[in-house]
Amino acid sequence: MDLGEFALIDCIRNQYKVPEEFLGIGDDCAVIPQRDGLETLLTTDMLMEGVHFLLDDVNPYSLGWKSAAVNISDIAGMGGKPVASFLSFALPKKLSDTFLKEFLRGYKDLSDRFDCPLLGGDTTSSLDRLCISVSVLGNCPSGLSRKRSAAQEGDIICVSGFLGDSAAGLQVILKGLERGELESELVRRHYRPVPRVGEGIALSMLPGVHAMMDISDGIGSDLRHILDESHKAAEVDIASLPLSEQLKEACHKYGWDPVKLALNGGEDYELLFTVSPEAFAEALPVPSYPIGRIVSGEGIRWIGRNEDFMGFRHF
Ligand code: ADP
Ligand code: MG
Repeated sequence: MDLGEFALIDCIRNQYKVPEEFLGIGDDCAVIPQRDGLETLLTTDMLMEGVHFLLDDVNPYSLGWKSAAVNISDIAGMGGKPVASFLSFALPKKLSDTFLKEFLRGYKDLSDRFDCPLLGGDTTSSLDRLCISVSVLGNCPSGLSRKRSAAQEGDIICVSGFLGDSAAGLQVILKGLERGELESELVRRHYRPVPRVGEGIALSMLPGVHAMMDISDGIGSDLRHILDESHKAAEVDIASLPLSEQLKEACHKYGWDPVKLALNGGEDYELLFTVSPEAFAEALPVPSYPIGRIVSGEGIRWIGRNEDFMGFRHF
């Protein structure tokens, strides 16, 4: 395939005319208005063995947890409340019953935490690899879902938590590093994200919070989605990126670049949002780390580093 991921998605997007009041391809979720003062949010995501996880390394409980979490995180990214999920698998013969039971236990624990029951799905066999597809339905009061397209010039760009821990955990996994307390904690951050549902809902109540999404591919990629959809540019101050003590320690120990992990790594599942300076000054109800500003023009200017950061790319 020569088309890039985003060119392919644009190609699909251009073929369908969606009703004016719907939101289709291009955000964390599709948004469909309802008659009763709510809007429905719908999102779907796939996890593929060898691409999103390594079967030899992953703990099945964590894989179940993460499969539900990454989808619920897209609902959180819009400021919605998850309502129900659907789970489909393609299962290779090599998978044991214990693996599947543990997977389902992790999936249920995360779902229960957000009151999001499983309502259906599909099960089929796979020749070789495990493939998991999850869809989550959510809702929010009409007009409150936060789009990627709503950033305004002058907005402060914020994230809801540390960046790069998950990417560092992935390095531990891929490099087969010995796991002491530090390494195990980073791996846990990779496999066991907690979607920021309450935080997203709290932010969606504030008129001064404009664009919002969850961070799945790293700021270098995800912030660009907000800029593309909002037709704006950004300045990001590298020195203000929130980095955990664990990340700093691991970078020191292994000679990794924390900025690259924070901006290119992805899978943080924190919220990325833009907020007016007035609303920001009033203190936001959730952890909010300012990392830059929305400006006019195109692209991202990284203040403090003379290079570009593109986030995680699938192709
Ligand atoms: P996220 O990382 O938030 O899950 P993605 O980058 O996966 O978002 O997708 C971006 C947008 O493209 C979403 O609106 C998604 O629904 C849409 N999209 C991705 N793949 C396809 C596809 N094969 N067909 C239609 N829409 C797609
Ligand atoms: Mg998303």
